[in-house]
Amino acid sequence: MELDKMDENDWKYHGEGNKSLVVSHLQHCRVLRLLKFPSEDSAHTRQTAEQAFRHILNIVDYSKYVMKPLLGEKYIHSGEVVKLPLDFVRQLSLKVQQERPELRCDKVMDTFSGCGLCLPNLTQLPLHHLRDHRPPICVEIKPKCGFLPFSRHITKECKRKVCRFCMHQHYKLANGKWKRLSRYCPLDLFSGSKQRMYVALKNLLEEPQNNLKIFKGGELIFSCKDDAKQQPDLNDLIQHLWPYFPHSNGLYNSHQPGKAVLNEFIQVICSSLLSGGDSNRSGEPRKMHLSESRPHCEASPFPRDLLRNGNHGLPKDSVLSKILQVQMLDNLDIEGIYPLYKRVEQYLEEFPKERNRLQIDGPYNESFMDTVKNCPTEDDGSVEYAVGKVHQYRVAMTAKDCSIMITFAPCEEDEEHQLNLEKPRFTYSVSILDLDPKPYEGIPHQYKLDTKIVNYYLRSTQAPP
Ligand code: ATP
Ligand code: ZN
Ligand code: MG
Ligand code: MG
Repeated sequence: MELDKMDENDWKYHGEGNKSLVVSHLQHCRVLRLLKFPSEDSAHTRQTAEQAFRHILNIVDYSKYVMKPLLGEKYIHSGEVVKLPLDFVRQLSLKVQQERPELRCDKVMDTFSGCGLCLPNLTQLPLHHLRDHRPPICVEIKPKCGFLPFSRHITKECKRKVCRFCMHQHYKLANGKWKRLSRYCPLDLFSGSKQRMYVALKNLLEEPQNNLKIFKGGELIFSCKDDAKQQPDLNDLIQHLWPYFPHSNGLYNSHQPGKAVLNEFIQVICSSLLSGGDSNRSGEPRKMHLSESRPHCEASPFPRDLLRNGNHGLPKDSVLSKILQVQMLDNLDIEGIYPLYKRVEQYLEEFPKERNRLQIDGPYNESFMDTVKNCPTEDDGSVEYAVGKVHQYRVAMTAKDCSIMITFAPCEEDEEHQLNLEKPRFTYSVSILDLDPKPYEGIPHQYKLDTKIVNYYLRSTQAPP
């Protein structure tokens, strides 16, 4: 990619989240991730080009030096910061505007700094098209927090029984964010039990919200509808998936072939979530010690009486196990973190210059990582302890907000990197994306939000006395 010869016609709209907009290259397996900011931001509150560059560099460093060592090399692509011609960025912004979903248009793309992040396009498999006429399928899952908090600082008992995602659903519905409750529960996905994972994925397919997207050949074919009242079309998805599971037609369940296709599709997703990325092909997967039987969320629709069946925990090297371990660095819960945040704040008020030494806003390098890893387990009253726990909490927050990309395509018999399924066989690759640092300043907001979600949940689910 020659940065001085960038042409907006080589790129097209790919997708966006809350913080960034992504365009993909028409020929190469590359994407550009560009930052967004609130459209009402005035020129003088906006980041300078220098600040934007620092911001993106922080994102790359955080991915490289913090998240990668924690989550495992093979899953992470940190990308590189690129300086783009302003003219290109402005043309690109105009070009993609009409493709953007309405619910995202409260923010605008950064067309001032010329800074962006260049990443491999994870919805594609490089060189795949040379072998098969069926383009790769990519499943993107934003799993959210997969455990029940266990901190002694928790003041509301329901937080130990109902997971954050399920409680948050009620709050989002009340605030008009979504029109229907999702029946997905992250604890089922992270359970390692094939049955529970199946139910979790089925529920994601029925109500994807922003937790599930499916791409074919790099094109989005399944996601939540812009019009919140409209449900996504599973039949449409089945039509796309047919050619990948041809034998599910005659072999069994012939009255409901569509169901058989979805069933196989879910099996493939399950297997890749439980496998060791794309390298672990030998023998019994190793089990994760702390989760022989993963706990259950009381709000999950999974039938209680089936919980005892086949609950084996997560294989140690699986992508789910990696993400869960990092999420669990949040072992004090926001209720335990907030007082520590205030301790840090008080200290910084007295010694503002210490902000740099304590690496509150980065740089996110090996030394930051050392603080995360070597934080004492007992509170000795020091600011160092408080900073260490706050850092750990922020790292956990990133892992609670990341996405998993599973990309697979049919492959020939004796090729490497295969899922060990009876048939069909797929080449596949699993990655983790969206590993941005969560701001230190966001902690008071997280504290308030937690209270609101829990209180709203208690009010809406418990009958008045
Ligand atoms: P969120 O609101 O979830 O925090 P975000 O604004 O941080 O999102 P990303 O999740 O990084 O942005 O990117 C937005 C979308 O763009 C993703 O959901 C994904 O579909 C797509 N995307 C991002 N990076 C890549 C990539 N490397 N390859 C393919 N698609 C990508
Ligand atoms: Zn739940
Ligand atoms: Mg995202
Ligand atoms: Mg993000």
